[in-house]
This record gives sequence, C-alpha cells and structure tokens, in this order.
Amino acid sequence: MFPERTAVVDTTRSPYARLRPIPAGAVRLEGGFWQARRAANTAAGIPQQFDILKARGALENFRRLAAGIEANTEDFVFRDSDLYKWMEAAAYALLDDDPQTAVIRARLDEAIDAVLPAQGADGYLNTYFGNDPSRRFHNIAVDHELYCAGHFIQAAIAHHRVTGERRLLDAAIRFADYLTTVFGPGLRQEPPGHPEIELALVELYRETGERRYLDLAGFFLERIGIADFTRFEGHAVRAAYCAAGATDYFLETGDPRWRDGLERQWDDMVRTKLYVTGGIGGRYRGESVGTAYELPNQRAYAETCAALATIFWNWRLMQIAGEARYADELERTLYNGALAGVSLDGTRYFYVNPLADHGQAEGDPWYPWARREPYQRQTDFPCNCCPPNVERFLASLPGYFASTSDDGLWVHLYDAARIRWRLADGTPFTLTQHTRYPWDGTITLAIEPERAAEFTLYLRIPAWAPAATLTLNGEPAPGAAPQPGRYLALRRTWQPGDRVSLALDMPVTLLEADARVPETRGSVAVQRGPVIYCAEGVDHGGADVRFARLDASTPLVPHFEADLLGGVTVLDGAGWLLADESPPPALYRPRGQRPPDVLRPARLRLVPYYAWANRGPSSMAVWLLLDGSAK
Ligand SMILES: [Zn+2]
Repeated sequence: MFPERTAVVDTTRSPYARLRPIPAGAVRLEGGFWQARRAANTAAGIPQQFDILKARGALENFRRLAAGIEANTEDFVFRDSDLYKWMEAAAYALLDDDPQTAVIRARLDEAIDAVLPAQGADGYLNTYFGNDPSRRFHNIAVDHELYCAGHFIQAAIAHHRVTGERRLLDAAIRFADYLTTVFGPGLRQEPPGHPEIELALVELYRETGERRYLDLAGFFLERIGIADFTRFEGHAVRAAYCAAGATDYFLETGDPRWRDGLERQWDDMVRTKLYVTGGIGGRYRGESVGTAYELPNQRAYAETCAALATIFWNWRLMQIAGEARYADELERTLYNGALAGVSLDGTRYFYVNPLADHGQAEGDPWYPWARREPYQRQTDFPCNCCPPNVERFLASLPGYFASTSDDGLWVHLYDAARIRWRLADGTPFTLTQHTRYPWDGTITLAIEPERAAEFTLYLRIPAWAPAATLTLNGEPAPGAAPQPGRYLALRRTWQPGDRVSLALDMPVTLLEADARVPETRGSVAVQRGPVIYCAEGVDHGGADVRFARLDASTPLVPHFEADLLGGVTVLDGAGWLLADESPPPALYRPRGQRPPDVLRPARLRLVPYYAWANRGPSSMAVWLLLDGSAK
C-alpha cells in the first residue's frame, strides 16, 4: 500500500495550482457521517457491482477478444467503461481497513487478468471495436472510444498509486501512446463526442511527466473549443467532464483564456442551471442542462454522473486559488445531488434524481416495456454509468477533505476524521476533527505538528452559515473574524496540542428560487447546514406530499432520530396536506370562485433529501408551497 501517492488529483507540481493534495490514504474517516457511507460502499456496493458487471458480460467481453473471438457488438459501445470505473473504485477501496478489501483485491486482480490480454499489440483496447484497426474511430462523436480510453487510464493511475503495481499503468501508457499517433496536428482532428479522455491524459502527464499526454489533452480541448464557450450548455455530464478536463489543463498551462472561459461557464451553471440539490440536467431530451431556469422538479433529469462531474470540476477549480465558492458548491452537491444517487445500504442507485415524485407505478399501455414500478433505486441499469461512478467517488472521498499550500493547511470538509500528512516545509502533522457534522455545526480540531511550526490554518466557513464563532485553546482567537463563504485564515506558530473549536450557526433556512424558475413559484426548499430536506409520503400517512403546504408561521424544529434512516436530523413543523384526493369537480374555474376545501391541517416532517426512497415507494417533494394562512 502506498498512501503517500494516493492523491485523487495530483497537483503537487502543477504550476498554476495554489493547493497541493493530501492523499486519500492520509485521511481516515472515523465514526462519522461519511465513514458509514463509505463502509456500505466497500462492504456491499463494490462487491455487488462486480458480480453484476460480470453477469452482464463485462469481463467476458475482454476474454472473448483475447481469445480472438471478435467484438461484443451486441453490447453498448461504452460497456468497458463500467468495468474501468469499478476497477478505480476497487483500487481506492483497498485503502480501507474493511475485511472486504481482501475479496475486492481478488476481484480486482480477476478484472485486470481479463482486461490486459485483450489489448492490441499497438496499444488499442476496446471490446466493442475489437482489434481490427479498420473498425476504429469511424464515428468519434458517438462511439465513446476515447471515453472508454479515459476511464481505462484513470483506473490504471489509481491502481498504480494505491498498490504500486505497474502492469495496468504500463498498458494505459501504451494506449495513450497509440492515441498520440492517431490524433493531433497533422493527424486525425475530430474531438471526442463524450469528454473524459482529457481528465485522464492530464493526470497521466502528472503521473509520468510525459508532456505529450498534456498536449493531446489540450489538442482535444481546443478542437472542442471549450475555452470560448460563453454558456454552460448541452449534455450535462459531457459539459461538466469537459470543463473539469479544461480546468486540469489550465492548472498545468496557466493560459488566462481558459480560466476566463471556465469562469463564464461556471457562473452560468450556478446562476441559472443548478438545482438546489447541486444536481444539473433540467431536461430529459439529450440528458441536457436545457436553457436558463429550466429546472423542473418531477421531470428533473439531474443524472448522478452529472452531479459527480460538477464535484470533479469544482474540486479542480478550488486548486487554482483556494476559493471557497467552489468548495461551497462541491459541498452542496456532495450532501444532496450526488449522495441521493445511492441507497443508505450502498447497493441501489438512481440514474435520474427527481426533486418530486408521486411514488406511484406508472406506465403506458401502448409501450408495454415502459416502466410501471414506482420510482425506486436499482442495483444497476442497462446504461450502467452511474453506479460504478458513485462507487469510485465514495472510495476516493478522503482525498477531498484537506489540502496544503506553500503557507499552510486547508480544511475543506468537516467530519470525524484523522489526517496524517506533512506541511510544505516537510513538518509532519496530525489533524483530528471531532464533530457530528452535518447534524451539528461544532467542529473541534486538534492540531499536532511534530514540532512547533508557523503556518496558516485555513478553515472553510460555509456560505450557508449566517454566523460562526471560533476559539483557540478555549479562548477567543485574536483577530479571527469568520465570514460565510470564505476561508478563515489563522496564522501563528502552532504547537503540538493546540485546539481550535469552530461553531457554525446551523439554522433552518427557507430558500426561494429566482422568480424565473417557473416550477418553484410560491414555494420554498428547506436547508439546514449543508443538507437539503424533502417531505416523503411515508411520514404523512401516504399522502401525496407534492401538494403539501408548509405553515410559514410555525418553526421547523430540528430533532435527531438515531434509528431513522441511519441516524438523521429531521425537521418537524406544521402545514396542510390534501384531505381529499378525489378528482375535483372541474379542472379549471373562473378566478375568484372559491375552490373546494381539499386541505387539512397536519404535522409535517422533513427528512434529508439524500435519504429519500429508502423506505419503499412514497411520494416526495423538495419544494413545498408556503402558506401563512389557515385553509
Ligand atoms: Zn450516469
């Protein structure tokens, strides 16, 4: 095991990065919120997904190719990428203490033993197109060949960083070298239709120091033209992967044209196309972000992969200068839009993440194959991109908690954790966080440099916290003025045994959307800390909570329920539910005519959005009509 080398995005030598990675293997999550999520991923999700991929032929495709039986053309063109993402997840999971890691290790080796013999002598590897060079790269915009190559390279880098073994990495290098003989100035000019290869090539450059991989990433990004985009648009996953890859490219090259273009797109996404959960993708057609303010609730697409892609992008943007606005958006997506993509037990997944649902079976008699079951998470999907993507992200999550810079140590995410790493000057330190975050805003940090050392401790003050207080060794910290949406900088000579206590105000906040979002007019979403809440029918006698109204004059009271949904803080309040779900006498009426009395007063309970659909079919709503008067 090589925890020293397990940076998720290795900006250690990136000239335009202020932040330097603290590797995933240097961070132990201990007994808090994320350890439970990661334990379910390692113990149940990752092993189960391997069995599913195997049963679906993902390994067999490689074995057939190695045996000279041509191609898997019955399957999706992107099937290989599912296995590669799983391999990346398995590699990061080996950093855990979980007893399942021995099983995962054996399955990872089984996968590698299936994949490697299928690689062509020239380095090309794709089971759909096989090893006949005449079949390759006919339709680059559609065929996902470069997308699969990108995931292969990422899996290989993770495997090498965690295990120190080179066989997968050497194969990835052969593939990347082959690509440099196919694409580039004077060669094939078409850009990939589904970005992903760009992230992989920049990371391969970081891993090997070979400039040609960085140049090829830049070539693809130039051909796509992303630096000149004025809006964030199109297929949500592709747009965000491309932006993440372009940010990686900027971190190595520093051309301000890239930074400006990315800033325009980020601004457009955050101001007009981002769900309150951090999901993106307001339109089913084309899996697209749609136009500005196109954010339907029940018809939200908000693919899990798209939420993860914005996390990857925000993380890379953070590396440039340590700006907290990117960390705020990363955290929003982490606790809501991304985490909703997996069940509490780690074995069932959402591809599409609606913000409202009726909880009923639905179907179309003229399309008998259309879904009829109520909307629930599934173990896998025909297009199975999301499950292994969640798994690789959760497995690598410790690598997103903290960073160093030339002048200090940065804490981005709060959870019960122990970080053992070294400052820029080489001083080893241990940083221990004690907290019940995200249910409680108090975080105690024990700072243990091996010897007294002067550096700046940067603590993120989330934008959602209206106020924060801080003490140092039990006393008010001199000059410390926490500001929401900023990193608080504490520069001093830190001594072993120093303690910082940060208390973030965590009120229940009712959020309104801009008036241009048609679906949320008159409604509020409820947030406490980083967690967005929803109402579920199962807590309301099966009522359809899409029609619930929240009483603005009754406070929502937080209450921790240890035995509910793995332990969550619920919000208890009051409002109204539909009393009579029989059809109305008329669908429309003249304005001013008194409507039938269909609401009844009721207690309302809100639960974290990420935890919905863990108790069987049920209606759900994030946005609730707000009503201050009795009906
Ligand atoms: Zn997906």
